Amino acid sequence: MPKSATPGDTPVSAPASPRRVKVAIIGSGPAGLTAAIYLSRAELKPVVVSGVPAGGQLMLTTEVENYPGFPESIMGPELIEKFRKQAERFGAEFLDAHVARVDLAKRPFTLDLGGSGKIEADALVIATGADARWLELPSEQRLRGHGVSACATCDGFFFKAVPVACVGGGDTAMEEALFLTKFATHVTVIHRRSELRASRILQERARAHPKISFLFDSEVLEVLGEGSVTGLKVRHTPTGRDQTLDVKGLFVAIGHTPSTEAFKGAIALDPKGYIVTHDITRTSVEGVFAAGDVYDHRYRQAVTAAGLGCMAALDAEKFLAGHA
Ligand code: NAP
Repeated sequence: MPKSATPGDTPVSAPASPRRVKVAIIGSGPAGLTAAIYLSRAELKPVVVSGVPAGGQLMLTTEVENYPGFPESIMGPELIEKFRKQAERFGAEFLDAHVARVDLAKRPFTLDLGGSGKIEADALVIATGADARWLELPSEQRLRGHGVSACATCDGFFFKAVPVACVGGGDTAMEEALFLTKFATHVTVIHRRSELRASRILQERARAHPKISFLFDSEVLEVLGEGSVTGLKVRHTPTGRDQTLDVKGLFVAIGHTPSTEAFKGAIALDPKGYIVTHDITRTSVEGVFAAGDVYDHRYRQAVTAAGLGCMAALDAEKFLAGHA
């Protein structure tokens, strides 16, 4: 029974009723923002829950040289700003909030924004992305974007004719090392164990490459340099012996973590936490679509994420048309 207010009672504000929208987009990297451009142009007035911080991995990227349409290259944050303005031009609305929980058991779907209210949406595009894992060294964080990178495809080009290192023992580390040989004079793969985890074919390719060498049972203690990378302090763990490796770049390839915490139990995720999709963007819940790195752990490029954002938007639009 609701208690009626009497003088002296502490005032209790009634919870604001959820805001109802046709379609909500969670995430504001290239996938989410491209979905926002398409859905706003379709006059569906999408609300984008940007995430905190907004903008995704491109916000941590310096020059982007491989996004089509920018022959002189563009800085990551500037590219995100342009995407966002383009979506706003057609009426997309942005909420600088974070989705804490979702209820996808019935339509409309409910997004709980923690202390920032709730949204009910008839369709949903999840584009929360994935975060590269880092070694969590203060020197690594300081030099991110200044010689330390988690994407050889994005940044390898900037390391022409200099030696670099790559950390990790999985498929990504082998692929990154092989890709880096196109530019660097030498690539040292640093792995914490004596055995690689990567598939045999990639291991063999990397081991056979004349420009690649391996430091096994080794960990990076520190990235050296002030404004740019000048070397690495590396420890051989079985002997405790330290050495300085003369490299100008460090590529960290120790895996990614998809940002799917809020969707656990609400939608099908694979064992690593990536959203499971079928027909490209469809998730296990009808009316909920996924786009970008939150399910694509293969390509992980801004342009592929944008493409998937477009596909998710077109699929969501079609879904809404069929469930008016
Ligand atoms: P992964 O297979 O999880 O490998 C991560 C590597 O980083 C492991 O060797 C791990 O060492 C190391 N590592 C993790 N945390 C570390 C830390 N704090 N310090 C130092 N090293 C650390 O990740 P991935 O290589 O990104 O691959 C992810 C998935 O995508 C895999 O299923 C992979 O097969 C797939 N993939 C496939 C291809 C392809 O087929 N062409 C390409 C890329 C990725 P330990 O070995 O000691 O655990």
